[in-house]
Parts: sequence; structure tokens; C-alpha cells
Amino acid sequence: MSGPWVIAIDQGTTSTRAVLFDARGQVAGLAFRPVQQHYPEPGWVEHDVEEIWLGVIDVVTQVLRDAGVTPGEVAAIGITNQRETTVLWERATGRPVHRALVWQSRQSAAICDQWRQQGLEVAVKAKTGLVLDPYFSASKIRWLLDCVPGVRDRAERGELLFGTIDTWLIWKLTGGRVHVTDCSNAARTMLYNIHEQRWDEQLLQAFGIPAGILPEVRSSSEVYGYTSAAWFGRPLPIAGAAGDQQAALFGQACFQPGMAKNTYGTGCFLLMNTGERPVASEHGLVTTIAWKLGQRVCYALEGSVFVAGAVLQWLRDELGLLATAAESEALALSVPSTGGVYMVPAFTGLGAPFWDMQARGAILGITRGTTRAHVVRAALESVAYQSRDVLDAMEADAGVRLERLRVDGGASINRFLMQFQADILGVPVERPEVHETTALGAAFLAGLAVGVWDNEDAISANWRRTARFDPAMDGTARERLYAGWRDAVSRILTRPMR
Ligand code: ADP
Repeated sequence: MSGPWVIAIDQGTTSTRAVLFDARGQVAGLAFRPVQQHYPEPGWVEHDVEEIWLGVIDVVTQVLRDAGVTPGEVAAIGITNQRETTVLWERATGRPVHRALVWQSRQSAAICDQWRQQGLEVAVKAKTGLVLDPYFSASKIRWLLDCVPGVRDRAERGELLFGTIDTWLIWKLTGGRVHVTDCSNAARTMLYNIHEQRWDEQLLQAFGIPAGILPEVRSSSEVYGYTSAAWFGRPLPIAGAAGDQQAALFGQACFQPGMAKNTYGTGCFLLMNTGERPVASEHGLVTTIAWKLGQRVCYALEGSVFVAGAVLQWLRDELGLLATAAESEALALSVPSTGGVYMVPAFTGLGAPFWDMQARGAILGITRGTTRAHVVRAALESVAYQSRDVLDAMEADAGVRLERLRVDGGASINRFLMQFQADILGVPVERPEVHETTALGAAFLAGLAVGVWDNEDAISANWRRTARFDPAMDGTARERLYAGWRDAVSRILTRPMR
């Protein structure tokens, strides 16, 4: 093995990882440590950002040591991160004023209600591409300003800095010299105008957030600064950053408009590249910046499925129908079809394109002959149907035809699910050789900035799939099955389908 090497720091919600990549984009080492979750109240989720910072130093040090690579052989560091999670810290000391408010946390819900009453929803969507929701950083910042004593005054005096996790890590790594974010992360704050490419003064004013705390917004691939020599023995360039989902889209080499990726985890995260065009969704999807390379901004449509792999956990843990999630594959294949059974796992309501939070799940079409295998198969198929719902909405919004779907995440190893996904979409599904697509995206962004790779073509040449699932179902059967799904969904909606 030989260099140059690129390190990706993948700071996620449940773990911090460092992945070492070689110049062919292959994984040469990985180190990780879990992130402790804090739940101070029901619905609140917080992280200790000092713990996260120390974790980053540990995993980078470990991945280098384990691979026998010296810091001098590292061409660049890229960062990808859990998005929206909000940190405020003291400019002078680096001390956080509070634990980070994690994207999932609902503690600022009342603030969003108030903003909605003030009629800000339309402006938020038009300027930021987002729906007004506590998920994004803006209301979390406001919560810190309102609820932590002294914070508003200190923020207005210029003593405090805001950042998402990328910003916090770059600031810490550079010894407090560089306060920046990349535009894919900025696009998730609900403060950034994705059309004009700047922090939106009107929104800042309406939200009561002082502009002085905000980082400078940069492209996703450039040298932001160098790590302090104290951390890894010598200064290393930090040369790329992107939010985790956008990094995965990049790591899947989805560079052309119409290319999409789906991450099958607990839920599904879908992103479709829409090129230089920010597409406003009519189906409740969000519009976001995928990345910026040089002066070129690439946009994406984003949607999610709330319950994907989680439906298998439910079958396993609550119903006892499975011993392991992996067992679902053989069981599903043991029957030729679900025998007309559909499962709609709307445990917490349905998202895009239905947006019915009151809807609850159902298993429909059962007969005396229905077996465990049929129910398990219906559960797996529900993941594919829900993904098609979102992808159809993306196609309709963007006016482009999906040509193929690239997949990753824990449940993407299920071959039955991937084949059924290809069948129900009518397009090929491709699974890459490198599972660490999020980290790979960050490494590609950083490597591009320092010349490890020359351009997107060089990256595409490094992207290899290990499996491809071609649609094998005829169009009539496909549409008949999908119509059955839509019918099943229509029965649980609490208001008519649009
Ligand atoms: P997350 O990052 O959301 O925790 P992962 O990408 O680690 O998720 O994937 C874990 C999810 O994948 C779990 O919900 C699990 O039920 C599901 N899963 C794991 N293995 C399989 C499998 N062989 N078939 C289907 N689903 C699986």
C-alpha cells in the first residue's frame, strides 16, 4: 500500500469514525467510537461536543497508527457530519455554552410554532428550500439564545460563535483560527439563502439571530485551513466538507442530474441530483445544496422514509417473527409473493408525498393462508414501495427520469429487497464496492481540492459497484402491485390522498 492518503472524519449521530482511503478510493483503515446520547427531557437529544472533539482526535490518531501511515503521507482531511446539530461556543476559549442540540431534538418546537403563526413558512421555503421545522438549526440557535442565561447578550457582544459539527471540528482542528462551514451544511440551517448563496438577512432578523455568530460559507472542496501541529504531529490540510447525506451522494458519484442514491438504514434517506437548478418541490420534499465545487453549485431534492429497516426490528423485537433482520431475506424468498398482503409501517405517520402525521400503520389483505413468510415479505416490500413513493415525487418535481438508483446502508445488503426495489422502480439498482459512501464522499471532496483526483471523471472511474439488480418484472405486474400499495396507503390516511 502506498500514499497519498486521504482521511475522512465521519462525525455521525451515533458514532465518530475516521476512514483512511488510498488514491483509488479504497478503504485502508477505519477507527470508530460511539457518541453518548443525552436525553434531558422527553423528545430532547443532546451531545457533548467536547467528547465528540476528543473522539475525533482519537479515531484519526488510531487509524493512522493501525495502518502504519505517518501524518506526512496524508494529503488531506475531509469532514462529513450529522447535519443541523447546533453548537454555540465562546470565541475566546472554545468553551461550549451548552451541549449541542441534536437534529432529532424537538426542544425548539414551540419556537417553530410561533414562527409559523407569524407567517414565515412561505419565506422559509422560498429562500432556504426547507420546511419550517425544529429539525433545522435556526430554532435551535434561538432556543440557546432564549433559554441559556446570558447567551443572548454575549452573542450580541460578539463573544460567541455558532457552528454545525463541521464548523466546530474545523475550528477546533485549526486551533480556533478558522470559522467556516461549507454550503451543503449551511443549507441545513434554515438561515441560508440557497439561491443567492448568502446568509439571509431578512430571516436572521425575523428569527432574532445575530449575524455575528455565523461562520463564513465556503465551497465543499477547498483548503479551509491546516490542523494545529499539536494534534497529529504536523499541520494537515482540511480540504473538504459536506453534510452526511450530500457526502453520500458525492461518494456514490451521482454527478449527473437525475442520478439518485438511497440509504437504507433505520429509515431511508433519498437524494436526487438536480444539477444547477434548485427545484422547488410540490410534494413536501426539501430542496438543498448538494455541494459546491469552485463556483459551481449543484442542487438536490431530498426526501426520507421514516420507517425502513426499523420495520424489521419491529418484526423481530415486538412480534418475534424474526430472530435476526438478515433472516428476512430467506423467508421472503420462500414464498413467490405476499399473497396479496401489504404492510404499511406508518408507525409515526407518513411523510413524503402523503404527509399525514395522524395516519397509523396496518397489515392488509390477510387470509387464513397468510404465513409469517408473507408478512415478512410484505414488510420488506413496504421499504421498496415507500422509496418508490419518494422517487416518483422527485421525478415529478424535477421533471427528470430516474435512470438508476445507487444504494447503501445496512439494509441494502438484503438481495431480495434490492431486487424488489429494481422491479418496483423499473430501473437498475447498483450497490457500490465501498460501503462507507459517506466517508468516501468527504474523502473525494478533500482529495479533489489537493489534486489526489483531478476531477469528477477521475472519481467516477474509481467508483465500482459490486452488485447490480436489473428489473425483471414486467410493467403490468409492476403497476398492479404498486396500485395495490397505493390502495393500502389510501386506507390508512386520515384525509384523502392528493
Ligand atoms: P442506521 O445508520 O440508521 O442505524 P444501518 O445503516 O446501520 O442503520 O442499518 C441498520 C438497519 O438495517 C436496521 O434497521 C436493520 O433492521 C436493517 N438491516 C440490517 N440487516 C438487514 C438485512 N439483512 N435485511 C434487511 N434489513 C436489514
